Amino acid sequence: MKIVVAVKRVIDYNVKVRVKADNSNVDLNNVKMSINPFCEIAVEEALRLREAGVASEIVVVSIGPKQAQDVIRTALAMGADRGIWIDSADAEMNALDIACLLGRVVEAEQPGLVLLGKQAIDSDNNQTAQMLAALCDFPQATFASAVTVEGDQVVVTREIDGGLQTLALDLPAVISTDLRLNEPRYVKLPEIMKAKKKPLTTTTPEQLGVHLENTLSLLRVEPPAERSPGIRVESVDQLIENLKHQAKVL
Ligand code: AMP
Repeated sequence: MKIVVAVKRVIDYNVKVRVKADNSNVDLNNVKMSINPFCEIAVEEALRLREAGVASEIVVVSIGPKQAQDVIRTALAMGADRGIWIDSADAEMNALDIACLLGRVVEAEQPGLVLLGKQAIDSDNNQTAQMLAALCDFPQATFASAVTVEGDQVVVTREIDGGLQTLALDLPAVISTDLRLNEPRYVKLPEIMKAKKKPLTTTTPEQLGVHLENTLSLLRVEPPAERSPGIRVESVDQLIENLKHQAKVL
């Protein structure tokens, strides 16, 4: 079985995000970018399925400008077999554009399983996997915390409010990964070197027959309101007194 994994390049999760002075967007100048953490978990899960003998090939796809290739190389260094970069140049894209492009890749590659992150930590959309499943007419399981392939079905445990839900889906299927699914492996230098030689093909939205039509415009980005500083109290009694006093004021 072939697995397609969608990986996005986003601001590294350790970076404190800055807003541009004119509030037009987030400032990406000289900011460290990395593979989206949920996408890294998706790559790791694909690798584990291959190691378990369930998957035979792992294809990673990223859509974005030239630098999107970096996250494909990261996934190849982790162990994926080949990459596809969809060169979107500087086009603004929404989740439906991404899902349409991924849909074309799925059509061409015919995978048994498509893995995505549950959300990209820059846009926090949490939309692409759901839209892709609908476009491909595949069953979907979002927020996966356990994945097992059993014959021509995949059994997925999902993290939902107040507990866990277990679903069995017919393959091919779309799964989006949650934080507790696995802990991605550490990539060693020789693997990074080896990944440079792995095949990476390039295509464009035009070649895939997708006309990008962004229907969203970003109006303004505001940093969160500054919080007033806290105070240190000497004892639990004083803490309780302060809380009582604040409750009266409110
Ligand atoms: P989102 O719906 O934007 O929160 O993203 C959910 C998931 O969709 C991500 O974790 C990726 O797996 C995939 N995805 C979103 N944008 C891209 C992109 N530009 N290239 C590849 N995959 C993407």
